[in-house]
Amino acid sequence: MLSSTAGSDFMNSATAGDPQVVTVLGSTGSIGRSTLEVLSQHPERYRVFALTANNNTAVLVDQCKRLRPYFAVLLDAKAAAEVREQLSQLKIPTEVLEGVDNLVAVASASEVDTVMAAIVGAAGLLPTFAAVQAGKKVLLANKEALVMAGDLFIQAQTQSQAQLLPIDSEHNAIFQCLPHDYSDPKQAGITRILLTGSGGPFRQWSCEAMRSATPEQACNHPNWSMGKKISVDSATLMNKGLEIIEACWLFAMTPDLIDVVIHPQSVVHSMVEYVDGSILAHLGNPDMKVPIAHALAWPHRIVSGAASLDIIASATLDFEAPDYSRFPALSIAVDSIRVGAGAPVLLNAANEVAVEAFLQRSIRFDQIAEIWRRVMDSVESEQPEDLNMVQHLDRVARIKAIEQVRQLQA
Ligand code: NAD
Ligand code: MG
Repeated sequence: MLSSTAGSDFMNSATAGDPQVVTVLGSTGSIGRSTLEVLSQHPERYRVFALTANNNTAVLVDQCKRLRPYFAVLLDAKAAAEVREQLSQLKIPTEVLEGVDNLVAVASASEVDTVMAAIVGAAGLLPTFAAVQAGKKVLLANKEALVMAGDLFIQAQTQSQAQLLPIDSEHNAIFQCLPHDYSDPKQAGITRILLTGSGGPFRQWSCEAMRSATPEQACNHPNWSMGKKISVDSATLMNKGLEIIEACWLFAMTPDLIDVVIHPQSVVHSMVEYVDGSILAHLGNPDMKVPIAHALAWPHRIVSGAASLDIIASATLDFEAPDYSRFPALSIAVDSIRVGAGAPVLLNAANEVAVEAFLQRSIRFDQIAEIWRRVMDSVESEQPEDLNMVQHLDRVARIKAIEQVRQLQA
């Protein structure tokens, strides 16, 4: 697929003991930018093969200037033409490609060791899956891909021997609290996972106040600076719901082993309880460079550039039970994984459409949950046997969700 000579030059210049070769999918986003900050601190360890974006030309051109990747891929053809023109004027030899097939190609190219999967939403499914199938070290931020096709991911990982390392701060924390030879919770003596969450910007808001919450308020997260979609998911707590499903797939667990704990300071990133009563916790500043550096260097450690946690200043750590009635996302997500089959695909698609409609001010904040329910109740969730079926189910659920958005607007 990669027709250019740039890739083969890259191959020819590689020798034993060379740096790790990395593709960053979604490099212009929040996780993508933090990844480049970590990579830039270790030029001797990492070399960038490809950077990718949807259509953010200005940020991608700037990243190509600084990191000189071999390829830059944009989903959008018009944006790709713009970046190609600008890089040629700047005499930067990065080859600019476009479209999903090229996102897949740079995620699975033989030259690549490590893929950061940081595209947001279902759009990341094909390239992230391709990286797993190709046996790469895959740093998984794109939780929606795993929610949609968890069993297919695990099958592909088993076949290709890909390493799937969690970037989500909670899952990265859990991973760090597990034994090195972890395969399943029973054998490891695990009794419970305590999945922490800040509670989001509306933790203390009444249902009445949430009815009129604006996109600006929903995106104003107290502890983390993130992309808009995950910010709204943090406000509804669907982010935590998706994370329960993510943890089930990553750690071969069932939802009854996972307790959500609201922890407003975001200092404890999650905990694992063992049969002897020990609880191991992972602490750190809420800075995504920490899990990114951990996963990039695993099983070694590198400097991340995150500030060291001032444990005295953060002496007070609060923990609360979540409020399931104000935040229905948690039970809906758990129901979807219990129902199994395609139910998580439906939930994810309904959520992506609803969040976008809320950001466009087409529906109110509390109507996001209404869209989840209506789609889950009205679409048949057959077991997807392959990625085509996952994508089909995703499309059907989106059409239904768009219909429901229109009905709510009427
Ligand atoms: P973001 O919106 O800031 O960035 C998304 C990236 O994906 C951008 O580079 C964008 O160009 C690209 N993209 C968007 N639509 C695309 C499409 N259709 N095709 C190709 N590329 C496309 O999002 P983010 O906050 O960086 O989140 C990325 C992923 O990481 C999400 O799945 C999110 O849940 C997960 N995550 C993020 C954080 C965080 O702190 N931001 C923490 C944990 C997990
Ligand atoms: Mg998280």
